[in-house]
Amino acid sequence: MRLSIRWRLALWNTFALACVLSLLGGLVFWLFRQTHERIDRALQERAEHALLNLDQSLLQQFQQLKNDPQVQTDMPKRLAHWIYEFKEHDSFFCVVYDQTGRAILKTEEMPSQSAPEPPREDLTAPQYQEVSIPVLGRQRVLQGRLHAGSENYAIVLLASLAEIDRVRLEVQNERAEVDREFRAVASFVAASIPVAILFVGGVGYLLARKALAPVDRLNRLAEGINAKRLDRRLPVLHPDDELGRLTTTINAMIARLERSFAEIRRFTGDASHELRTPLTAIRAEAEIALAKPMTPAEHNHLLGSILEECDRLTRLTDQLLNLSREDSNGFTQVRDLLDLSALVKQVTETMTPLMESKGLHLECACRLALPIRGDESRLRQVFINLLDNAIKYTPRDGRITVESCRDGNNALVRIRDNGIGIASEHQERVFERFYRVDKARGRAEGGAGLGLSIARSIIQSHGGAITLSSEQGAGTTVVVQLALNELSPALGSAGRS
Ligand code: ADP
Repeated sequence: MRLSIRWRLALWNTFALACVLSLLGGLVFWLFRQTHERIDRALQERAEHALLNLDQSLLQQFQQLKNDPQVQTDMPKRLAHWIYEFKEHDSFFCVVYDQTGRAILKTEEMPSQSAPEPPREDLTAPQYQEVSIPVLGRQRVLQGRLHAGSENYAIVLLASLAEIDRVRLEVQNERAEVDREFRAVASFVAASIPVAILFVGGVGYLLARKALAPVDRLNRLAEGINAKRLDRRLPVLHPDDELGRLTTTINAMIARLERSFAEIRRFTGDASHELRTPLTAIRAEAEIALAKPMTPAEHNHLLGSILEECDRLTRLTDQLLNLSREDSNGFTQVRDLLDLSALVKQVTETMTPLMESKGLHLECACRLALPIRGDESRLRQVFINLLDNAIKYTPRDGRITVESCRDGNNALVRIRDNGIGIASEHQERVFERFYRVDKARGRAEGGAGLGLSIARSIIQSHGGAITLSSEQGAGTTVVVQLALNELSPALGSAGRS
């Protein structure tokens, strides 16, 4: 099932918005995540930095003691002094153990139950720990060993972790805060995208329906236009918008259809009329033959004229057949390479006896070879029709000139007569089907008014043009123009006339 345009528009619209929103949502999410990570790293560093500072202070104290020269000479005194100095750091405590693990010295303010365990025997480098000490609470502990002569002491330095823990707690809280914000934004984005998509989808559908409503109206109106109502037109409300332009185009198409229908009707009427005339004549002549006894000579005369009418009918039906084939491109597109001058010369020669019988003078100047591509028999038909007209409409002793030449990339054939000519008001219409300037004389001459329209159809199907210029009483010139086929191998000279 294919969805209607309004549904498709709405769905595409929604799809596009969903893509944009998803991309934007993803981007916001990514940016937020980056910021989150950066803040997290900064907080982490803050906590680590505070611990590092504390560790460095403890180590500094230990190193000071270790590097003091008095330690080697007068250890007990130095230790006592060192412990005393420790009083200045109210949050620092110190305990010194002897080799047996007995606490021999400690910061005075330190409660006795808070003394930590002595370090292990195998402790070589200073070591940090975090432990919970009774009364003192959480402490950072630095354990180290000190050698003075043969004596071996264990030093334990304690510093309160209260400040560090405070920083850590702060960091934790801030992290949790950032996490909360991040989750809030993420859930807002996740919830708002479907809502926005639904909203835009709905609005898009309504808009598409509103925008396409005139199309439905046009559709209903167009349904009322049929072959019998081709005079109707669709209303153009806004000529400059897309729909206005489409309606104008449809109206132009209906106008063309109306013209074509009128032409077809006229053509059918003309054709039936033209077919009817010889049929009526044949019937009348046959009735005469039956009605009264006749001499053989009278019989022959009657049969002769019946045959003449039959010839006229045959010619007419052939012409109609040719025209309908031209109209429907029924002819196979033969494109033989041929010399137009030679073809015109041949046709002229064929028609010379007819010209001579009418006492007409002929001049044929078709010397230059003019290579073209085309259907020889149909082109021959064109020149037969044109020469036939020139002969028919030129009185005795008249002159007919046929010449061919090249004009740039085109081949031209000009057929000129000094016959009766055509009045200017008819010149435009002589290419129309069944159009005759002088109806009565045309029929007497045997023409149905199809010769020029057949010629034009053939020439146009060859991509060429045919034009006519005439002056009443002075003569007519018809020019046929066809494209030269320059790439073809040279043809022998056509005219040796
Ligand atoms: P037809 O078969 O009647 O000659 P055409 O289509 O060949 O039909 O010509 C249409 C009309 O044009 C003719 O009836 C005639 O009146 C006019 N016509 C055509 N060629 C000539 C010409 N060379 N001289 C004068 N009139 C012409």
